[in-house]
Amino acid sequence: MDSLNNALSAIKNLRSSVGHVFEVLANGVQAHHGDDGRDSKFLVQFQELFNNVNLNLREVESVINGLTPPPAPFNLGHTAALAQETTDERQALYSQLVNSYKWVDKIHEYSFLANNILNCNSLRRSYISYSNKRGRLQISSCNNTSPQHVDKVLNELSLNSLQTNYKIWRPFGSNAVVIVNIGRILKAAIVFKGVMIEWVTVKGFDESLDVDDLWTESRYEVFRKVQEQTHSAMLHFFSPTLPDLAVKSYMTWIHSYNKLFTEPCRRCGKYLYNALPPTWRDLRTLEPFHEECKNC
Ligand SMILES: [Zn+2]
Repeated sequence: MDSLNNALSAIKNLRSSVGHVFEVLANGVQAHHGDDGRDSKFLVQFQELFNNVNLNLREVESVINGLTPPPAPFNLGHTAALAQETTDERQALYSQLVNSYKWVDKIHEYSFLANNILNCNSLRRSYISYSNKRGRLQISSCNNTSPQHVDKVLNELSLNSLQTNYKIWRPFGSNAVVIVNIGRILKAAIVFKGVMIEWVTVKGFDESLDVDDLWTESRYEVFRKVQEQTHSAMLHFFSPTLPDLAVKSYMTWIHSYNKLFTEPCRRCGKYLYNALPPTWRDLRTLEPFHEECKNC
């Protein structure tokens, strides 16, 4: 065993000296060879290395000559048992393979069905089209709108008035968050993805609305209810084909909450019902309704 180890390390030495020769050759004449006679110095170095290779090669040869062929096969421990079980039945591989093929088939089938069902969902928020003609997937999405375009759309809203003001904020990189203050009544954070509205948080005028509060609900029931209504309106106004118009319509709609506490319900004529003001605004006429009255 020792002689085998010696032979292996001799081969390692040979490989490393050959590698060194090629390394020096590839680098060529270097600055450390000096200014005069650099070519001859390089040649001397190369010769030394080459001699090393020769010495190592001779050593390998002599060590290999000293090796004696093993009298019996090496003991490979448990690995020798690998060749023993060759029959399919005893390995039970076949049934496992069949099972995994069935699984893969099912996954294909289910994912195909799920894909079809999800494509039919009219509320999906992105425009995705599949083109399998060249086996390539093409995704066109209205999420990929530049921040400048979003700013332009929002600036065209001209919602700034004495009662309402809004500011554009980008705490998450390129996607905008618009903070709308409606009178001294409520404030809303409208989170955009591209030019699409992704989320709305409604808070009372006296509640804080910064990054930490964007996803928490208001402590007032009336504003939690208004937030629910803004979400259903968000889905109603969503339009992947006319996203700019959708945003403008939505902003006009949400602006109609400026008389949340001062307008009676258009249906029952009351200001309060179940201790809440009319929290719903009609999507076309912007008229106020209690949630209970809107479907009457
Ligand atoms: Zn009512």
